[in-house]
Amino acid sequence: MNDTAKPVERFLPFTRPTIDEETIASVAEVLRSGWLASGPKVAALETALSDYLGGRAVRSQTSATAGLEMALLACGIGPGDEVITPALSFVATANVIVRVGARPVFVDVGLDSRNLDLTQVEEAITPRTRAIMPVHFGGLPVDMERLYAIAGRHRLRVIEDAAHAIGSSWRGKRIGSFGDLVVFSFHPNKNITTIEGGAISGGSAAELRSIELHRWHGQVKSGPDSFDTLLAGGKSNLSDVAAAVGLGQLKRLEEFNARRRVLVARYFELWGTDAPVRLPERGDAGHSWHVFTPLLPLEQLSITRLAFIEAMKERGIGIGVHYPAIHTFSAYRALGYREGQFPNAERIGRETVTLPLFAAMELTDVERVVNAANEILRGARK
Ligand SMILES: *Cc1c(COP(=O)(O)O)cnc(C)c1O
Repeated sequence: MNDTAKPVERFLPFTRPTIDEETIASVAEVLRSGWLASGPKVAALETALSDYLGGRAVRSQTSATAGLEMALLACGIGPGDEVITPALSFVATANVIVRVGARPVFVDVGLDSRNLDLTQVEEAITPRTRAIMPVHFGGLPVDMERLYAIAGRHRLRVIEDAAHAIGSSWRGKRIGSFGDLVVFSFHPNKNITTIEGGAISGGSAAELRSIELHRWHGQVKSGPDSFDTLLAGGKSNLSDVAAAVGLGQLKRLEEFNARRRVLVARYFELWGTDAPVRLPERGDAGHSWHVFTPLLPLEQLSITRLAFIEAMKERGIGIGVHYPAIHTFSAYRALGYREGQFPNAERIGRETVTLPLFAAMELTDVERVVNAANEILRGARK
């Protein structure tokens, strides 16, 4: 750096959780209470989530990954079964299918929506198909009417990966307030957090019972001084410490998501007519904007994505990548998948960049990101 270097601005990460003092105090209270594992706070969080989701049954877990896996097990899905899922998501979506012994059957996604292509879903159904696992990518709801019509026609269960979609709604109805089994994530990068954590909304009585057993050793009380173990369950129960964080976060969810919508509106406004990136589908007021992920037009640029990310970092701006296409990973090539099968997912995997978006951001932060990206990309046009 020379004398004319600009003053250093604070680093702007692509995401950062907002934890208020009241929440921190409530965690301290739990820590002093003597009860740290699953207890009254977990029960209160499940009730609060249930109230938020129109009164549906909610069961919390230590992660959405655990929740998705238990949802599959609760639906009786295992070896010999197929589950249809998008080729573009966080890898957990497909990993859980493999972990229960079933086969993930990928379909491509929309280039701008990033959501699974429902026409391809219908074409991918075989006699072995047991479930569809859609992802509401970035918080943009999948077309729920068409999805559930397909599932109904073929008698398939739907396990929604709603890791991005807490607070999203489809035609005025909150994601998780209807549908089969809907799984949320409360990882710190998500719209609200419990540090690590997740929750399943919905499920039949039998599925709920199964989820509870898988969540805690398969154990039930069989008498005043005796337990029985009904199945070889695992252990994925949330702690009261985590639930206290979640209760504080849930109170702010609507405010956080409203802020995300305002920030995204500014991105769209600044890039309205002449964007040097390909903007994602805008959706409507039901979009919860977990991530803002334009595509770089790499074919028109003389720089790579990595060079763009590094140039942004030099300007104090953090960039994420959500996500490489799942079928291109080694574990999925080993299942027979190959490059070229899902062109949109692959192109998104190559070109996507996640720009800063979180509730504590300022509108001037958006302007800073747009100015930096414009400068880098306009200077790199072929
Ligand atoms: C974050 C995420 C998960 C996993 O959530 P965890 O709570 O970290 O297990 C699953 N699917 C998608 C699409 C995600 O983004």
